[in-house]
Order: sequence, then structure tokens, then C-alpha cells
Amino acid sequence: MDCIFCKIAAGEIPSAKVYEDEKVYAFRDINPQAPVHILVIPKEHVMSSMDDFDLEKNGSIMVDIFNAIKKIAVQEGLVNGYRIINNCGEDGAQSVKHLHFHILGGTKLPETFC
Ligand code: AMP
Repeated sequence: MDCIFCKIAAGEIPSAKVYEDEKVYAFRDINPQAPVHILVIPKEHVMSSMDDFDLEKNGSIMVDIFNAIKKIAVQEGLVNGYRIINNCGEDGAQSVKHLHFHILGGTKLPETFC
């Protein structure tokens, strides 16, 4: 499968890594929208988007992803909070079809974001 985030997770395309464990990889967004802008992905291409979510098949990787997000927030010093975003599908403006969550922070974010 020709997927840019699969290649990043495999180290075939360079990225600014901030976190890695057995199942999850996180790296800085190439076009940051906040002082801290990190993408958190499953290493395996388990879902193209959250619209493919199935509790039995994908429940465990979602727990891994959100555990990783919590650790990354501590690591990045986001003590005053942060935003987690998932763009899902065409109308959600999802551009990369490999499940990912954005962590945005490092400043007081506006109340709305798009
Ligand atoms: P989305 O619009 O939710 O699909 O987000 C995809 C994100 O991936 C965008 O914020 C892009 O800036 C980011 N992105 C695309 N290619 C790369 C890359 N090679 N390294 C880091 N971030 C990337």
C-alpha cells in the first residue's frame, strides 16, 4: 500500500520523531498550526479513518494511541492542556488516509479551530 504515514512509521521517509512504542509512532507535523503540533499514528495501517472504527477489531489500538497521547503531553510539557483533533473523511478535511490524531498545544488555542 502506498501510504506516506506507513512509510514514516517504517522509517522509510524521515520524520521528527517525538514518541514510539511497539504499536504507536508520533512525529511533528510538517506544517505546524500551533507551537506544538504532533501527529500520533498506529504503526500498522489498521484504519484509513475513524469512520472504519470497529470496537472488537480496533479497540485495543485506540487504547494504545490514547495512552501514548497522555505520555506525549507530559513529555512536551503541555501542563495547561492541549487539543486532540481527528479529521475524518472528505467533509472532515482529512488529507492522509491513515488513522492519525493531531495534538495541538503550547499556547492558548482559539475556541474554534479549522
Ligand atoms: P489531515 O488533514 O488530518 O489528514 O492531516 C494530515 C497532516 O499530515 C497535515 O497536518 C500535514 O501537514 C501532515 N503531513 C503530511 N505529510 C507530512 C510529513 N511528511 N511529515 C509530517 N507531517 C506531514
